Amino acid sequence: MQYYSLNRQSPAVGFKEAAIRGQAPDKGLYFPESIPVFEKSFIDNIEAFSKEEIAFNVISPYVGDAIREADLRRIVSETVNFDIPLVRINENISTLELFHGPTLAFKDVGARFMSRCLGYFSKSISEKVVVLVATSGDTGGAVAHGFYDVPGVEVVILYPSGKVSSVQEKQLTTLGKNIRALEVNGSFDDCQKLVKQAFADTSLTEQLFLTSANSINVARWLPQQFYYLFAWQQWVDKSNPPVISVPSGNFGNICAGLLAHVSGMPVQHFIAACNANAVVPEFLKTGEYQPKPAVATISNAMDVGDPSNFVRVLELFNQELGPLKNVLTSYSVSDVETKKTIREVYSSYGYLPDPHGAVGYKALQQYLQEHPGNKGFFLETAHPVKFYDVVEPVIHSNIPLPDAVRGVMHLPKHSVQIDKNYEELKAQLLLLKQEVER
Ligand SMILES: *Cc1c(COP(=O)(O)O)cnc(C)c1O
Repeated sequence: MQYYSLNRQSPAVGFKEAAIRGQAPDKGLYFPESIPVFEKSFIDNIEAFSKEEIAFNVISPYVGDAIREADLRRIVSETVNFDIPLVRINENISTLELFHGPTLAFKDVGARFMSRCLGYFSKSISEKVVVLVATSGDTGGAVAHGFYDVPGVEVVILYPSGKVSSVQEKQLTTLGKNIRALEVNGSFDDCQKLVKQAFADTSLTEQLFLTSANSINVARWLPQQFYYLFAWQQWVDKSNPPVISVPSGNFGNICAGLLAHVSGMPVQHFIAACNANAVVPEFLKTGEYQPKPAVATISNAMDVGDPSNFVRVLELFNQELGPLKNVLTSYSVSDVETKKTIREVYSSYGYLPDPHGAVGYKALQQYLQEHPGNKGFFLETAHPVKFYDVVEPVIHSNIPLPDAVRGVMHLPKHSVQIDKNYEELKAQLLLLKQEVER
């Protein structure tokens, strides 16, 4: 498979180069030159396949011969080695629980796949590879965990100071070794901007082998298709495909679902469930894409004012709004509604969604009310305990800490504070270069 840049100024590259670069030299996102089509027998008989086989079938056309088959099979099985159950909440609504991985959020899937691919590729690179990543909360922990102690790789995570939950902050600041956290006095968009500036700074990239682990990286984006097919495998009424509601921020997750659908996975309709950051709901209403500064909400991992993967969504639909609107609806859900939803779902069905999942639930409920006769599921993108600061006061009770979290909460935080100023980031990266060369 070849990948072209959506800015169309840089040459197309194979999977290895797209994964290592993250972003094309012209700053465009990489996009596959052709969209593979699933075999009908694969979709019709999906129950007959194991999770590992499903994942391998989905990803192998995208990887091509960049990774040996036996290694790719090992990588996908390590990527999906935790439960991803579809859980029924009520008559019409189920949830796909994506939080059973090591950092309790769906980003474990993409991060585990990507870190293993880069670990595989870094053996043929003599320099240290520096993974530079901005996080709105969950990416940091997933990437840190995925790359922890991977030889030949250093990780630098930028996160907005005071705007991630306490569990998230612990997960990305307590590992040490090859993982470093920079606490930025600014928003997630500021962090993302700093990362982009670093990639564009040739005086830096000539000295440091930089790569990105944000959801723009094809090695994070593409494996997110896996669990949509796991859901299809568990979907009972195959004659009435699901409406799928995806809590969305940077739009990587939903773009992977749309890709699986374009490849032939049956889906009734997609819903991009957003919080107050409503650039996409506005776009679908007015046809005008107007990025805005992000506003802080209780579903902080979706506080994105200019979602970077949305250009890929448009490309999937050949930049045509009509066909896109046939498949995709988007709602904006306020913090007040989100809290109300957490309370209602918990008291009515005994199910406790996290704030992101609650946005997904609310948007799905609204769509199903407007389109009776359908059923669907929302993606539960994180475990509610990651956001206990928000959830516990809403339900007036405590959420027991899973072992994975209890361990990190006592560890000391290690981070370096910087202002949202590119020169400060650059100085930190050059310092890192000196340290790893010593
Ligand atoms: C990252 C994240 C999202 C948003 O996913 P995108 O792929 O950026 O749209 C939603 N929920 C949680 C819990 C997340 O961590």
